[in-house]
Amino acid sequence: MLGLDCAAPALVFERLRPHMPCVSSLMSRGLWGTLRSSTPPITMPAWACMVSGRDPGELGIYGFRNRIPGTRALRMATADDVRVPRVWDVLGAAGRRSSVLYVPPTWPPRPISGELVGCMLTPSPEAPHTHPPELAAELSRFGPHTPDVVRVGADPGALVEALIEASSQHFDVAEHLLTTRKPDFAMMVEMGTDRLHHAMWPALDPSDPRHDPRSPLVRDARDVYAHIDARIGRLLERLGPDTTVMVVSDHGARPLRGGMYVNEWLRQHGWLVLRTEPRAPCALEHADVDWGRTRAWAEGGYHARITLNVKGLFPDGCIEPASLEAETLALAEALAAADDGTSRPLGSRVVRPRDAYRALEGTPPDLLFFPGDLDFRALGEVGTGTVFVGPDEAGASRGNDGCNHDWEGLFVLAGPDVPKGGSRRGAGLHDVGVTALRLSGVPVPDGWLGQDLRELGA
Ligand SMILES: [Zn+2]
Repeated sequence: MLGLDCAAPALVFERLRPHMPCVSSLMSRGLWGTLRSSTPPITMPAWACMVSGRDPGELGIYGFRNRIPGTRALRMATADDVRVPRVWDVLGAAGRRSSVLYVPPTWPPRPISGELVGCMLTPSPEAPHTHPPELAAELSRFGPHTPDVVRVGADPGALVEALIEASSQHFDVAEHLLTTRKPDFAMMVEMGTDRLHHAMWPALDPSDPRHDPRSPLVRDARDVYAHIDARIGRLLERLGPDTTVMVVSDHGARPLRGGMYVNEWLRQHGWLVLRTEPRAPCALEHADVDWGRTRAWAEGGYHARITLNVKGLFPDGCIEPASLEAETLALAEALAAADDGTSRPLGSRVVRPRDAYRALEGTPPDLLFFPGDLDFRALGEVGTGTVFVGPDEAGASRGNDGCNHDWEGLFVLAGPDVPKGGSRRGAGLHDVGVTALRLSGVPVPDGWLGQDLRELGA
């Protein structure tokens, strides 16, 4: 199972297909289609849901960060937050061995039946990141552990070089482990595609208003995909024709139409109150918030997580627990009706976690808000003097970010037990884990969401 974080169906199935002969041939040999992501379509919950049969509420993983109970602070979600078995745990209990490489979240590393190399959460190359621990020394011949390329200055050419180098390491490690250990199941996630999209989406997508077909970045960006495709081809060659292979992504990507300062909107509509106006735009945690009069606040990102300031739950909470339901509904209605500042409807999506998930573990937000249904980035700063900004400013607040996440990721499935059937509709993240178990001949545990991808209709 090869994960390409953020890989978008329109890129892999259409635009870049001529540059990806290996994935293209898997499509011709097997099944492929879009793959509905989790709500929200964010890396941590999405990969965790895909291989656990659970939704974000059941996992209690609502984004990259989770709220610390009783406070307004957030902390990074890690492998320790996944308290249910994942595909490799189920396989391990059935006596199968797995190699799990760079799959979010797998840091800190936990014992599995087989080998594990930790994900992008690994704080430094020196931090323990493998199971068994001594595996790190064996893999050191491939260079310092680099699960992710976070930032390489402002030069896109340098980023492309770094992405190709890091993904070469990942595939070198995969080739080494898969040929020396011969696991029954292997899964690897390549983060480079996500980093590429966020750095230079307009170069990849002609439908982005910022696309310039003459930019040298168009070829640079394509080269990253072509490189990854070639390495997938080389890996599959080493594994032989009996291998069943799935290429999947956790969510897609789409052009950024702009950004919405959600906390500024909450201020304008009386939900959030500052004692003093900030001298310059700043994060909410640095602003002089009048919590006694603030009923709701938002954390920004690809979407906004909105929390109501309930008495007893937070210091200076001001909403009586008895009115939480009515206040939440009122805010959901107002957000859904919010326009883009020029009276044009935004077409936003507002989700109540209790309506979307089968359980609510941990500390869920009260509302998930997707401005323009992912057309707009949700921005958390206050003191901006405006609610809406264009794509350049929306991206700039996150280090020059070129795209937003999208609801649809992708899957391609091919192998001896997979029919040559062309495209399939209606696949969701959870189908991936179920299909991996079915193909392994291991029963799917009770309560798992998802169905076998081979049973989907055309
Ligand atoms: Zn992702």
